[in-house]
Amino acid sequence: MTEITENAAVKAEKPSHFIQNILRTDLEEGNVASVVTRFPPEPNGYLHIGHAKSICLNFGMAKQFGGACNLRFDDTNPEKESDEYVEAIKRDVTWLGFAWDGEIRFTSDYFDQLHSWAIELIKAGKAYVCDLNADQAREYRGTLTQPGKNSPNRDRSVDENLALFEQMRAGELEEGSCSLRAKIDMAAPNINLRDPIIYRIKKVDHHQTGDKWCIYPSYDFAHGQSDAIEGVTHSICTLEFEDHRPLYEWFIANISVPAKPKQYEFARLNLNYTVTSKRKLRQLVEEGHVEGWDDPRMPTISGMRRRGYTPESLRNFCERIGVTRSDSMVDVGMLEYCVRDDLDKNAPRAMCVLRPLKVTLTNYPEGKIERLVAAGHPNRDDLAERELPFGKTVFIDVEDFREEANKKYKRLVLGKRVRLRNAYVIEADEAIKNDAGEIIEVKARVIENTIGVDPEDGVKPKGVIHWVSADEHIECDIRLYDRLFNEEVPGAADGDFLQAINPDSLQILRGAKVEVSLRDAQPASVYQFEREGYFCLDEQHSKEGAPVFNRTISLRDSWAKMSQ
Ligand code: ATP
Ligand code: MG
Repeated sequence: MTEITENAAVKAEKPSHFIQNILRTDLEEGNVASVVTRFPPEPNGYLHIGHAKSICLNFGMAKQFGGACNLRFDDTNPEKESDEYVEAIKRDVTWLGFAWDGEIRFTSDYFDQLHSWAIELIKAGKAYVCDLNADQAREYRGTLTQPGKNSPNRDRSVDENLALFEQMRAGELEEGSCSLRAKIDMAAPNINLRDPIIYRIKKVDHHQTGDKWCIYPSYDFAHGQSDAIEGVTHSICTLEFEDHRPLYEWFIANISVPAKPKQYEFARLNLNYTVTSKRKLRQLVEEGHVEGWDDPRMPTISGMRRRGYTPESLRNFCERIGVTRSDSMVDVGMLEYCVRDDLDKNAPRAMCVLRPLKVTLTNYPEGKIERLVAAGHPNRDDLAERELPFGKTVFIDVEDFREEANKKYKRLVLGKRVRLRNAYVIEADEAIKNDAGEIIEVKARVIENTIGVDPEDGVKPKGVIHWVSADEHIECDIRLYDRLFNEEVPGAADGDFLQAINPDSLQILRGAKVEVSLRDAQPASVYQFEREGYFCLDEQHSKEGAPVFNRTISLRDSWAKMSQ
């Protein structure tokens, strides 16, 4: 894995974004000794491209300013969380090229401490056990325009609250029968301050703590305090938490926490033609619209990895979109551009015939095999040269031959010449058809002495096409992917994002032929199949039977062309 040695923002001398400015000022003015950030995923799903933005920001800032970034699993909702997600998230962060500081952390590591802080609030008269059920609590909460009403239990004595909270903890009270709430202000304009719930009864086991707890802290009660425990200086989150910041600050001010972290918000990433809601992604998986969280069409980090996207291209994308406080929609074409740009520079070249058509070279000696050589990459000497066996029979793509064609068609035409890439010029003489009238073979001739040079008779080939030896090649399956959604904002039209699924997002081609230099291709490695696009060897599907290559991305942006 490549280590990121220098933050690209610094290298490119781009103007700093507002988070960088805050960090720089805090360091210069001595408000903090060093920068500590954290990335706090909830282990209730796989990470997606939006999380990549948050990862690049949190880890990137720590790196740029010589600080540390923690990986903390925000695991306060045991019903939806699991160890599978914990492992997947660790894998994804590492693959993106980042290393967390010290051990992995879990909010659940702090449950004892959080519990004693809840008791501290009760003792200070700042928290109480409330018996309102969910419906009643909603009614008492008020609205954006109307203040709430005090709970009938708001003035319970400290002793009564302590006893009831202990009963909650001991499992003596039913789920939903009561909760612990902070006593702040039911008339606060900010609804988050209207006596928010800080502990709920949930009689479920937890993936980390087992059956130790049957009460769990709310996100708001857990998050800032966990930041304080870890010495996080800058707690960077997305804008939907802006309204929670006063509550974050209230807890930090009213509890004897060991440090005073601060929260900062930035705009989340929205990508067109993509959904980045864990709930919707889970629905796609659970209802079988895709093969799993790592289906190559998914915008999950594991899906993009399986598709052949590289960590460099994702980091570069996150760098380009920048960090602001205004919500916007990013064109998925920008992500695709970053992928293409990286693969163009780094992917070794190869030839693969997706829809094979046999070409017999009638004047080429039977049994003769020449070992031709081609570059691994047009401008990368460090990528190994490939050996291309050339014999009497080759495969070309069915799309690359026509009996008749106009001048625009720069491929093989009956009676005309074309160059086989890295090999000879050939001329087509005859098309052989089956009973259904389909062309099943082309008879052609090799024009002698044309490797690397034009024919001596001055009749130039019309174009260059790719090919693979019929004698020596590898059979493979090709999976052509397209965007998973047809609508720019899936579901915007009628509220149902499933209606926007592109029915042609996966096309499987069997019996493709790829050159033998890919014999030892490693799973997850990406090649440019010349004239076809970038393809990645699929680890899972290649385990048995023919290798499977996923199309990472086409060579050019076909969507941009279509919409022009
Ligand atoms: P949930 O609805 O389950 O809370 P979530 O997408 O917020 O989903 P978290 O696991 O809580 O998932 O997210 C971890 C971190 O990633 C949070 O700090 C969150 O703000 C950030 N994050 C999530 N989605 C995006 C996004 N689209 N763009 C930028 N950051 C994001
Ligand atoms: Mg969240």
